Amino acid sequence: MKLLMLFMTLSFLISCGKKEGKEKKETFKLIETREIKNLGATSYTYEHIKTGGRIVYLDDQSPEKVFGIAFKTPVVDDSGVNHVFEHAVLQGSKKYPDKNLFYELDTKNIPSFLNAMTGQDYTVYPFSAVEPKSFDNLLDIYLDAVFNPLVLEDENTLKREGWRYDRNPNNNELIINGIVYNEMKGAFSNPYRNLSFRMNRLMYPDELANYRFASGGLPSSIPNLDLDHLKKTHKKYYTPSNSIVVLAGKQDIKKTLSKLDEYYSQYNKTKIATIETQNTQLKDEFHNER
Ligand SMILES: [Zn+2]
Repeated sequence: MKLLMLFMTLSFLISCGKKEGKEKKETFKLIETREIKNLGATSYTYEHIKTGGRIVYLDDQSPEKVFGIAFKTPVVDDSGVNHVFEHAVLQGSKKYPDKNLFYELDTKNIPSFLNAMTGQDYTVYPFSAVEPKSFDNLLDIYLDAVFNPLVLEDENTLKREGWRYDRNPNNNELIINGIVYNEMKGAFSNPYRNLSFRMNRLMYPDELANYRFASGGLPSSIPNLDLDHLKKTHKKYYTPSNSIVVLAGKQDIKKTLSKLDEYYSQYNKTKIATIETQNTQLKDEFHNER
């Protein structure tokens, strides 16, 4: 059985590449196959040859087709950069410049699930759909949104989704406004949230420095965020090499991989993000906090 698996792994050529002359160029290689008996499913792990991007496909023959792309995004400050970016990503992309992409996604393509979430060390963009056409459309929209978001060129999206100066309509006083800023003000008004944040701040040693930060953003630090920080974060983290894609359900895997390659092939192999341990600037900030 092991030999058979090995043979399958070595010999399986994904013929989803673009035609170059008469030969089809191999773009993904299958690196692992596993039977998952209690689910009655098989999982396949692929690697994108050019970038090293990983794809895990759970073939469970379910009619609901699932997609999720996650990027490793360790937090390096309290500005909420990953969270603001996650909000801004679905506010238009090069191919889909509509500012209200979430609305378009939801009404025109009938997803069974649609979202984007920021964790402490990753950001994930998942959706699912039953109808194959909706799945194909959503896949293209999501890939274009994460790799080619318009926010990188548009300060107004940062102002709307992140933070901006505004006027209090009642007394005309200068205030700070913005979707993520207000969301995090609400989150930190919860005593438990506040306590767990302070606990992490004190508990984690310097070598796990990234876990000391508020991944969603600290209201007092969100106004430190500017477009340059967003751009640098996108360049560093949003690459195929630094991502993992999960797929499930009954789907045309060759077609899905071919669509992924359309975006992945624009990139070369990049460094996978790591938890930074030797950042003196961060250490100083922590020591002040203590
Ligand atoms: Zn949010």
